[in-house]
Amino acid sequence: MKALVTGGAGFIGSHLVEALLKRGDKVSVIDDLSTGRFENVAHLEDNPNFDYVIDTILDERVVADMTAKVDVVFHLAAAVGVAYIIDNPLKSLETNIKGTETVLEKANDGKKKVVLFSTSEIYGKANSQPCKEEDDRVLGTTTITRWGYSSSKAIDEFLAFAYHREKKLPIVIVRCFNTCGPRQTGQYGMVIPRFVKQALLDHPITVHGDGKQTRCFCDVSDVVRGVLGLVDEPAADGEVFNLGSDEETTIDDLAARVKELTASKSTIEHIPYERAYEEGFEDMRRRVPDLTKIRETIGYEPRVSLSELLERVVADFEK
Ligand code: UDP
Repeated sequence: MKALVTGGAGFIGSHLVEALLKRGDKVSVIDDLSTGRFENVAHLEDNPNFDYVIDTILDERVVADMTAKVDVVFHLAAAVGVAYIIDNPLKSLETNIKGTETVLEKANDGKKKVVLFSTSEIYGKANSQPCKEEDDRVLGTTTITRWGYSSSKAIDEFLAFAYHREKKLPIVIVRCFNTCGPRQTGQYGMVIPRFVKQALLDHPITVHGDGKQTRCFCDVSDVVRGVLGLVDEPAADGEVFNLGSDEETTIDDLAARVKELTASKSTIEHIPYERAYEEGFEDMRRRVPDLTKIRETIGYEPRVSLSELLERVVADFEK
């Protein structure tokens, strides 16, 4: 198979590229290095099955050229991270909406399958957990930047479904829940790399809010395995799937575990959301994926526990 990975120099993208190359596929990457890093793929440069273009998915000609040469497009190029989105609201909306429109339009020209990477942000602040794919989305007002990001990714999903229904474009949508692992940076807000870095430097570990909010963190290797299972499964065509782990933890517990694992002298400090992000910021109290659909479709099971994931991230930072 020949694959195009948009955002292939990003954290998840680079792990996906490695896995595709490992199974013998040819891989092209387009990345504008806005949040991706060339170092994430630099070690692949000499692989004859790998090539890359540093450019934006907003450039229609480049996207048309690149999609024409492949069999499948993994679309990961998007604004990422709550902190990044709040600092760059306009660019985030533009990349997510115009960028995805361009990728789908050009992929449709050759009827190339698109795997769209979506997000659990889609569900908003829904109280009923675990989230099932068909659940209602619960969003706050438009003055809160986070809900614009959630809506832009929902537009991406609507676009993908519309191309599938109206143009018969093969698509699969995956909603990732808090993917973590080696190479993820805390620069755009993600909690695990932030806590690990703070702990290793003996700086205060900064828990937002009361720390009782929960998340389920999934190792990137599980996410990549799930995606590769879905792309090869005919029954996944035209469908949306949650993808993640269902091991739930509070952020307080996460902070304590990181501190213990790194034998850190850090204190654990609680910071109000308004100070961490922006006035009026809203967080979800719980976020847990219902994995029934992906389990039943491809037999997916997350394999990496939170303890193992934290060990991997710490080892990566120490390296
Ligand atoms: N968080 C935190 N300290 C940080 C960064 C994040 O307590 O330095 C919290 C954040 O407010 C949220 C959880 O950790 O409740 C997960 O945040 P992340 O940005 O990693 O993912 P998301 O909010 O998208 O689930």
